[in-house]
Amino acid sequence: MTEILAIANQKGGVGKTTTAVNLAASLAVLKKRVLLIDLDPQGNATMGSGVQKNELNFSATDVMLEDAPIEAAILTTKTGYKLIGANRELAGVELNLAEKNRREYVLKDAINRIADSYDYILIDCAPSLNLITVNALCAAGGVLIPMQCEYYALEGLADLSNTIDRINQSLNPELQIRGVLRTIYDPRNTLTNDVSNELIAHFGDKVFETVIPRNVRLAEAPAHGLPILFYEKSSKGAIAYLNLAAELVKQGKKQKKAQGKPA
Ligand code: ADP
Ligand code: MG
Repeated sequence: MTEILAIANQKGGVGKTTTAVNLAASLAVLKKRVLLIDLDPQGNATMGSGVQKNELNFSATDVMLEDAPIEAAILTTKTGYKLIGANRELAGVELNLAEKNRREYVLKDAINRIADSYDYILIDCAPSLNLITVNALCAAGGVLIPMQCEYYALEGLADLSNTIDRINQSLNPELQIRGVLRTIYDPRNTLTNDVSNELIAHFGDKVFETVIPRNVRLAEAPAHGLPILFYEKSSKGAIAYLNLAAELVKQGKKQKKAQGKPA
């Protein structure tokens, strides 16, 4: 069974891309077959994976426009996972998409062709809830929500919960919140602890036990086009993302067991 996860939060700067890149690399270390799809025109996940976003032959844009088969856009990176890259051209897709039949399912239809080749497909979303992000939410079985534990984080949460509910009712009944991840975490800050407690009150065991600490190495690694594991593997950030990958895999096994499927 392939687990397809959209990494989404309409707030920018909460650690979506950092999580996408480093979780992909950490799952690959655990011998999982991983595809990371960059679905943000900023192309940060692409650059952070060591791929030049402006030198892509085929990218997420071609997948969304159905210009090329998805297979053509899949790149092998030095980091152990496969990548579909993106750059600013992706922003232009929105208009073309609006005219299509099944416009919410273009990504899902493409992913269906290749899903069997992967254990995990991670989709790094842009900080907006446009039709491109809706495609990610329609292709995914779960949403992983990175959240920085600060005051305004809770405000955005209601919007995101509403969107997920709406998609659930109309476009993708399978979609679940797979987990809420506390990122850029600073336990010395009282507000952080308060917000963290509120998150747990609201989402219960959907909040990952693993917390991603504020760690400057995580912020430095993308400048070198490397996931943290390849930049400084003994850093707190690297260890945290390895722990997250292990937690995700463990939970996945539990869920399958509960559903009576082989692990
Ligand atoms: P998003 O994709 O949600 O916009 P990013 O992953 O790009 O967020 O992170 C925003 C900024 O914060 C980036 O400069 C990134 O390097 C930095 N950052 C992300 N996570 C951490 C962390 N745990 N510790 C320190 N800096 C971080
Ligand atoms: Mg991002």
